Amino acid sequence: MILSLGIIVLFAAVANCAEPPAASCAEPNAAPAPKKPEIIQWVETETGKWMVHDMNRPVPPVITPGEASCYGKVGSAPSDAIVLFDGNDLSKWESAKKPGQPAPWNMGTGYFETVKDAGYIRSKQKFGSCQLHIEFATPEKVVGSSQGRGNSGIFLMDMYEVQVLDSYNNRTYADGQCGALYGRNVPLVNPSRKPGEWQTYDIIFHRPTFKDGKVDRRVRFTVILNGVLVQDNVELQGGTGWIGPYAMSDYSPHGDKGSLSLQDHGNPVKFRNIWVRELKD
Ligand code: MG
Repeated sequence: MILSLGIIVLFAAVANCAEPPAASCAEPNAAPAPKKPEIIQWVETETGKWMVHDMNRPVPPVITPGEASCYGKVGSAPSDAIVLFDGNDLSKWESAKKPGQPAPWNMGTGYFETVKDAGYIRSKQKFGSCQLHIEFATPEKVVGSSQGRGNSGIFLMDMYEVQVLDSYNNRTYADGQCGALYGRNVPLVNPSRKPGEWQTYDIIFHRPTFKDGKVDRRVRFTVILNGVLVQDNVELQGGTGWIGPYAMSDYSPHGDKGSLSLQDHGNPVKFRNIWVRELKD
């Protein structure tokens, strides 16, 4: 008797778990809902007028990305980059003091290094707006202080300097430390690595234009130092040339392209893995 009661209770519980029959919510004899008109948005682009999600819109070119440098392994350039230094020779560079003469800096294994008083070196090829990747290392043995310690510089169009400096526990003026647009813009943070360690710069540069002898559109810089944003689409208010302890150069008209140059500031600084991708203005 007790067993049969248990079976009945269990059967009732199972029956309660069954899905209830679907209720019909439709209004009897309701008219079908009107179809919403399709919204189509259009965009005007350099490649034509396209709908949002238009399958006919041209896709960007496929490239092979480079590899990032990691510990002892040097990275490589993307497939569409112009390689200015791949670790082998300085054939893409020349002396800035003596144009047409070989770059008078020292080659090491996979890198080159500044030579005191040899002067700046510059790329033979000239560039306007571009993306630049470059790696550098200040001396492991710390010598000097402030601007006298691991100082070099990367000059876009031979003119606009992104500072290279050993800024690891090295106080100097804020607009002259590593990551600064020299004399103009302080970096957002200081992500400097220790002296002797390889560091990376990724720089997006948009050239200036000039009209009637005056700057018409200013330079814009985005700079990433060691993977960290330090200049966020900054518009350069003037030049980065030193004209006195508390004064900087102004814009001065120049051509559409210029060399990439590297500074001899009298301190030994190493460079490697340098490549450029030209950009539209
Ligand atoms: Mg410098």
